[in-house]
Amino acid sequence: MSPSGGAPLPRNRSQLSDIASLSERMGYFQALRAAFAVIVLGAAIFAAKVLGVSDISSIALVTAGYLLVSGVAEGLRRLTNERGLSIVTLMLLVDGVYLAWMMYETNGIQSPLRFLTYVHLIAVTLLASHRTGLKIALWHSLLFFVVYYAQAAGLLEIRGELARGTQFERLSVFNVMAFWLVALGTTAFSSVNERELRRRKADLEALAEMARSMEEVSDPNESAQILLDQVSEWFEFKRGVVLGGRDFTMMAFRGPGEATPTEPGLDQVVKDAFEKHGTALVKKPDPDENPRLTALMPFARNLLVVPLFAEGAPVGVLILEHPSISARVERRLVVMIEQFAAHAALTIRNAWLLEQVQRMAETDALTGVANRRVFELTLQKELARSQRNGEPLTLLLVDVDHFKSFNDTHGHQEGDNALKGVAAALQEASREFDIVARYGGEEFAVILPSCSSRESLVVAERLRTSISDVDAAAPVTASGGVATFPTHATDMSSLIEAADEALYKSKRAGRDRVTRSRRRPAARRPRPRPKKPVLAETQPVSEARSVS
Ligand code: GH3
Ligand code: MG
Ligand code: MG
Repeated sequence: MSPSGGAPLPRNRSQLSDIASLSERMGYFQALRAAFAVIVLGAAIFAAKVLGVSDISSIALVTAGYLLVSGVAEGLRRLTNERGLSIVTLMLLVDGVYLAWMMYETNGIQSPLRFLTYVHLIAVTLLASHRTGLKIALWHSLLFFVVYYAQAAGLLEIRGELARGTQFERLSVFNVMAFWLVALGTTAFSSVNERELRRRKADLEALAEMARSMEEVSDPNESAQILLDQVSEWFEFKRGVVLGGRDFTMMAFRGPGEATPTEPGLDQVVKDAFEKHGTALVKKPDPDENPRLTALMPFARNLLVVPLFAEGAPVGVLILEHPSISARVERRLVVMIEQFAAHAALTIRNAWLLEQVQRMAETDALTGVANRRVFELTLQKELARSQRNGEPLTLLLVDVDHFKSFNDTHGHQEGDNALKGVAAALQEASREFDIVARYGGEEFAVILPSCSSRESLVVAERLRTSISDVDAAAPVTASGGVATFPTHATDMSSLIEAADEALYKSKRAGRDRVTRSRRRPAARRPRPRPKKPVLAETQPVSEARSVS
């Protein structure tokens, strides 16, 4: 598993999209524009004298034009998603022009409508960002100065009662200063707020990212590695481990060097975190009390030990080394890591459950070896492989002798124990790539790939006799039958039949022995062979052992 775990994380928090959706914020802007229009028109109509408005129709026309332009721009923004941001910026500039114009039309620098630019500035700072707020403050100032100097130069007539002179200039300076005071004040507060919101949003996106990566894996250890990698990358941890499972062994590791295999068991820091039912911060773990942790993360300091619980049950523990020497761990960080851990714990638990269900579907519940379904699927697969590679394959069927009377004498429980012992003995005596399966009640099957007919009796006898070492209420013996592909059969059902026939012969010959099939594959049997006495086909134990 690569350290990155899954899809790469966004590295830069500022790359992440803004807090509320653009459309939502644009809705507020449109409402604000409508409010500006209503206020401007209302003021022009009801306070025309005070505001020195002589021509209401020009104000109404400009306002209607402004509303039309902003409406069209908003429609365009929705249609052309990619250019959305430039249209938004353009509209903010248009807002500035409209407000400056209306201010000029209503007594210039003395206009009470100048406060609308303050409202606009605050809205931009809060709804867009503090950076955009500052840019818009500059824009408003620029427009203000354009009008001021145009008036000073006589290009625009001076509106209001104030004649050009000291008072006019003082008010202009005051206006700009008050405006910038509002701009900087709002920016300062909103930038703090914005940073926090952006961090939270980024954290949540990282959490969602981890959840997406985890959806792609079904292995508990891979899920643990994703948790460790994502948390480490996102919060910049250098070292960490995830311990879990029944024995609390290592599930995931991250750090310089290789992970040292550790003994199963619980270290003191892990016990403490479980007892606390929450994250424990450990400055310097005691090596004597935490031997596993010390082996995995030597000289680790400032640890965050996060227990992983799934629906109240412990599934593991995430241990991270905090990079800061001072070890002042932010509460927000702990809360976020706990959220990552809680999500991962559920995924890990589900992965385990899935594994368990798969295991249950494939193994025999009593003995733990493959069940009959898996036996048949495997035999089919192995036969196809043998056919492709031109290699032999032997099937051994083993049946415990007189098992009914064993049960009757020693009880069903002892019978079960004996069956478990037989399965374990067969497993122990077989090669790594042989497949032991429980074929029926007290019958077992062993698939022996690459085992020829010539070798089959020796191998089968070794397996069969391993059963005599089973520690049971009474000595256990078994009979066996072997058949080999392609010597005795060329398809699965005939191979099973051939091994079964051979087993039956062992039973008839007195049990506690193994017999090799004497069948011939159908295609290679041109005419029926003369019948031989049953005993002649049967290989007594002593004879079987002599075959090499
Ligand atoms: P043979 O030597 O001819 O094989 O005789 P047998 O008694 O072993 O064979 P039979 O087929 O008559 O009986 C099989 C017995 O295996 C009967 C059944 O109760 C027992 N058996 C099957 N499954 C289990 C199991 O899961 N646990 C226990 N304890 N006994 C089982
Ligand atoms: Mg039987
Ligand atoms: Mg039996």
